[in-house]
Amino acid sequence: MTDESVDSAESDQAERIERTERTEQSADVVIVGAGPAGAVLGYLLARSGVETVLIERQRTLDREFRGYGFRPPLPRLFAEMDLLDAIEDLPHEVITQGTVVAYGKSYPVFDFDERYVLLLKQPPLLRLLIERAREYDTFTFHSGTTFDGFLREDGSVAGISATSRPSGETLEIRSRLVVGADGRFSSTRKVAGIDSGMNETGIEVVWFRLPCAAADFTTHIRVEDEGVLVYSPLSERESQYGLLIPKGTYPALRDRGIADFRETVSAIEPALDGDIDEHLTSFDACSLLSIRSGLAERWTDDGFLLIGDAAHVASPIGAEGNNLAIQDALAVHRLLTPVLHRGDGPLPERLLRRVEQVRRPAVEETIRAQQSRGDGLSSLLSSRDRIPDALEPTLLRGGAALMSLLARLPSRSSTDENETSVDRTLFVD
Ligand SMILES: Cc1cc2nc3c(=O)[nH]c(=O)nc-3n(C[C@H](O)[C@H](O)[C@H](O)COP(=O)(O)OP(=O)(O)OC[C@H]3O[C@@H](n4cnc5c(N)ncnc54)[C@H](O)[C@@H]3O)c2cc1C
Repeated sequence: MTDESVDSAESDQAERIERTERTEQSADVVIVGAGPAGAVLGYLLARSGVETVLIERQRTLDREFRGYGFRPPLPRLFAEMDLLDAIEDLPHEVITQGTVVAYGKSYPVFDFDERYVLLLKQPPLLRLLIERAREYDTFTFHSGTTFDGFLREDGSVAGISATSRPSGETLEIRSRLVVGADGRFSSTRKVAGIDSGMNETGIEVVWFRLPCAAADFTTHIRVEDEGVLVYSPLSERESQYGLLIPKGTYPALRDRGIADFRETVSAIEPALDGDIDEHLTSFDACSLLSIRSGLAERWTDDGFLLIGDAAHVASPIGAEGNNLAIQDALAVHRLLTPVLHRGDGPLPERLLRRVEQVRRPAVEETIRAQQSRGDGLSSLLSSRDRIPDALEPTLLRGGAALMSLLARLPSRSSTDENETSVDRTLFVD
């Protein structure tokens, strides 16, 4: 299964459903997509007294192979949103150190004193956000509901039409603002005719999950002669790993068989030997993800705004995507709530562009850093075919050191001066 097919498997079923009824609704804001960006925004707007409808294509909030690392400043921002105590009641891990290991030598990536990274599965977090939003009668959530297209009024986006499953009912939701928070393969972005600015690297990742504690909670990446392994620890009972491969080589890897794949992984991380033999019995349990990141050419139209991965696709490198997505939601809430409390009619692009102006510099810097780290990983992998054996270890060590150095550079989105805070004066308590 590829990442795009994981994302769209359920929506294909929606195409086969015959439409029956049409229902009309209205709200101040319609948000398409209940990932971290959409769910946080829905909660904040509803809490501030803004009539908000959130739609989500999937019938449940369960999702695999997504970002589970919530790096600083997110724990502090969750606290400001009055969510941290409830989040800490969910199964989670706290990590304060991260390293890249190359040929047995550790290169520190981060070592926090007071700040920390929360390892937290997305589904319980999203459920919590929606549960909290539902405490306000300004909030409506439609799951199993897929965006079909925009409603327009005098050239402006003035709402959406969507199909609800399993009834096949068509919803027409009029609104002053449509927020496209529908992720990497955003349909709202496509229908608005906005280019995703997507860049692919020459690498793909074969992801798999094991029902046991991570081999190591601090290691992010391990580089050995046999390959490069990415770690994404989840809990004491679950861990996730990704083997980096040159783009286009997955069919050949599958042809060599799952036993060969397990051997490669165990050669890189011997601590997985045993667990991987017991639990990874077929490629059906693996998912192929291409490492890509991108920045949409623009994020706005009259009545329409993109946020999160829909506006800027974050790759897993450096665990930045949740941070960017949630900080976008905070910026929308802070800048647009006062406007939504006044007047009527679709919000003009000139107002929405303010959100893009505030967020774009930090996002651009982060995406650029992800892309250069992706290029570094890509040349690390491709060089393995071209470089004489005797030279390879030296060059790979250089590559790993470079990656850890890049990862240490403070990205503007994660420094204290530039992060977006929750503006409490906008809450209706
Ligand atoms: C394998 C992997 C590992 C990652 N690891 C990390 C990490 O450790 N830390 C980190 O910070 N980031 C990580 N990321 C990135 C992170 O997951 C994303 O940046 C983040 O989820 C983006 O949030 P979002 O709300 O913008 O979009 P998404 O989380 O993609 O949510 C979009 C939502 O929109 C819904 N949707 C899509 N189309 C429609 C439609 N037509 N109608 C209605 N709903 C629709 C989708 O079902 C989905 O629920 C990782 C990404 C991947 C792929």
